[in-house]
Order: sequence, then C-alpha cells, then structure tokens
Amino acid sequence: MGNDLRPVRGTRDILDEEILRFERILDATRRVSALYGFEPLSTPILEFTEVFKRTLGDASDIVTKEMYTFDDRGGESLTLRPEFTAGVARAFISNGLAQRAPIKLYSHGPLFRYERPQKGRYRQFHQINIEILGTAEPGADVEAITVGAHILDTLGILGKTKLEINSLGDSASRDAYRAALVKYFSGFKNDLSAESKIRLEKNPLRILDSKDPSDKKIVADAPALGEHYSEDAKRFFDTVQEGLTASGVAYTVNPRIVRGLDYYCHTAFEFTTDLLGAQNAVLGGGRYDGLIEQMGGPKTPAVGFAAGIERLALLLDEGKNHARPIAIIPIGAAAEKKAYALARSLRDKKIRVELGFGGNAGKRMKRAAKRNTRAAVIFGDDELASKSYKIKQFDTGKEHTVPADMLAEALSDDTGS
Ligand code: AMP
Repeated sequence: MGNDLRPVRGTRDILDEEILRFERILDATRRVSALYGFEPLSTPILEFTEVFKRTLGDASDIVTKEMYTFDDRGGESLTLRPEFTAGVARAFISNGLAQRAPIKLYSHGPLFRYERPQKGRYRQFHQINIEILGTAEPGADVEAITVGAHILDTLGILGKTKLEINSLGDSASRDAYRAALVKYFSGFKNDLSAESKIRLEKNPLRILDSKDPSDKKIVADAPALGEHYSEDAKRFFDTVQEGLTASGVAYTVNPRIVRGLDYYCHTAFEFTTDLLGAQNAVLGGGRYDGLIEQMGGPKTPAVGFAAGIERLALLLDEGKNHARPIAIIPIGAAAEKKAYALARSLRDKKIRVELGFGGNAGKRMKRAAKRNTRAAVIFGDDELASKSYKIKQFDTGKEHTVPADMLAEALSDDTGS
C-alpha cells in the first residue's frame, strides 16, 4: 500500500466495536459528570506552543520530546495539545471564568504525543478530562476522585482497577523535601542515569519517576515526602482520606505516586489496572494550585484528572450491540413510493429501519440478510389494497400478515432495544 493510504504511525482509524465502546464511555462520562454539576467545555486542539511550555515546563518529557510543534503559515509556533489541563486553564483565563468560580468543567477529545506506539499507547489518543477550578477545599479533591470512580463504576470496570493516592504536600513541604532529595541523590551522582543527573539540577522530584533500572535501585531508599509534610499538608491529606472513606471510595496510599509536573501539590491519584500490561495507568490526576496564576491568571486553586479513552475501551466488557434492524422490501412502483414514508414513521417510533436502496425484492432480501436484519416488512399492490403488511422473521423464516395500523406494534415486540 502506498504510504499515503496508511494512517500515520501511532494514529488509527476507530471503527466497528471500538467506536461503539468510545460512545459508551462518552455517554457514561456525560451522564455521571452532569450528576456532579460538571459543564462541558471544548477547547481548540491547537494552542500557541507557549501555553504548554509555560505550564508543563521546559524540562518536562512532554515538552522536550513529545510535542507536535510547528510554525504555521504566519510564522506562529503552534502545538497539537498533548494534554488538557493547560488548554482548559488558558480558556479559564481567556473567558474570565474566575467570575463563576468555583466552576466544574468536563472535556474530551484527541491529544497528540510523539511516543513509541504500542498496545494502549498511541501518538493520537483520546481522553476524558475533568477539572474543578477555583477552590482550595479538600472536598474538591474528594469529589474529583469520586466522580472518576463513579464513571469507572458506571462502565462496569471499577473492579478491574485500583486507586492509589498520595499527597505531594504544599510548597513548604515540597521545599523541605526537595532539599532532602538533592542531598540524598547527590550522594549517588555518579550512578544516576544521564537523564536523572539533569533532573537533579532541574527537578529532583522527577527522579522518583525514573524507569531506569539503576535509578530505580537508588530511588528505593530515597527519603519519603511524608516525613516532610507541613501541619497544613498533613491535615489536608487526612481530610481527603476521610472524605473518600465517607464516599465509599476504596483506596490505598502509595508514596510513590507523583505527578511529574511542577505545578502539582497536595493530592495526586491514579487508577491503575493489571490487565493492560505495561500501560497500566487508566486515570490520573491531582491538585494544581499554582498553575493558573503561573499562566498569568488570577490565583485559582484547582484539581482534576484525565482518563485515556483507548485504555478504558480495552477494559470494557462486550457491549450490547445496537438493536438489529428491520428491512423494508417494497414490491412494485406504488409500494416503492410508499416505502420512504413507512420508514420514517417506523423510525419515529424508534425502530431501526434499513431501506435497502433499490433493486428487486430478491436482491433486497439478500442485502437485508447481510445486515443482520431481524425481520423484513414486505408489501406490494395486494397489501396496499388490503391495508396490510407481510412480516418475515429472518431467524425462523416464518411469515405472517398484520393490519397496517398494527405494524409498529408487531415489530416492536422484539426490538431488544
Ligand atoms: P497523563 O495525561 O499522562 O496523566 O495521562 C492520563 C491518562 O491518559 C493515562 O492514565 C492513560 O490512560 C492515557 N494516556 C496517556 N498517554 C497515552 C498514550 N500515548 N496513548 C493512550 N493513552 C494515553
């Protein structure tokens, strides 16, 4: 196949069973997030590169290695969004949403990261994203996690995941911890990976996240952030845990859950699964009190999460398929004309109808059989004259005739929808 007929590496066409799973995930997210008062927000896929550079930080993996960045025809540097939060924060500022804070926003759509593709990891992937902006209360952290758990539960996959939470502390805790880490890792300077040597200068917290085997050994004995929490940070984390317990959300505390980015504080959380191999993260989020101010907006503490739709889809059980359609098979010119109106009146009654687009009755029956049709409505001049329709059940081959005004009822009997 010519290059131009293949999708770009790491991107895919989504069809058949998978797109139906996507629809189910979006439906569930819409319904559940509305129960908590989230409003939909759609931001552009393209943003000025600065939006991501400023928020994610020049040293982050996403900015240094993974962004799809290009100059547009006007010479502006633009980037295909690699994550939601920066764009949502930008929109919060651009639209003056601080007036309405606290505000809860729900988004979904494609994201782009130049990563090595594998099962569950793509260069174009999709997320659902939840943000609660404008409140510093731990109750918001509880609600963000709870709505995430509720969505997973509605999809029937909560039991396939586990929730781990951690606190990154406040800035006082983090300053104390950063100093302790620098002291500890400096003792192993020669054994750290090249990347972690740079992290030691720029953001020592990120060494904890390293996948490098020799880094991992050093990390195993690194000091824990918990030993450096301020009183405020401790109280905040306790309140979040009490709220989760009161909400019936099961969790464990894992001190190794960190969010790589600088602007995170207090709660960090992750729903993971054992069922997807290396790509075990399903949903992740946390509190980011400094971000919006850092972007030039008003002081706006916030918390949110993102979940990968592809990974959620991989965890979903076999979905209920669409109800099988019925086929309309008109015989003769008069019936042919009547078929359009009949199809519309049945569809108005929520019956799925295939019209078959021309050809003789035999051809139409064959086509109908291919489309998993459950029944055919067959009618010609005789049926029109006697105001009746013949119904043929595909599974049994049985035929019977019903009066015209009983048709929808006769077909509704077993829609299964
Ligand atoms: P992150 O924005 O990196 O915190 O990721 C949030 C969620 O998005 C993860 O838990 C995954 O479910 C999903 N995700 C992240 N990167 C990818 C990717 N390259 N392909 C598919 N899903 C991804």
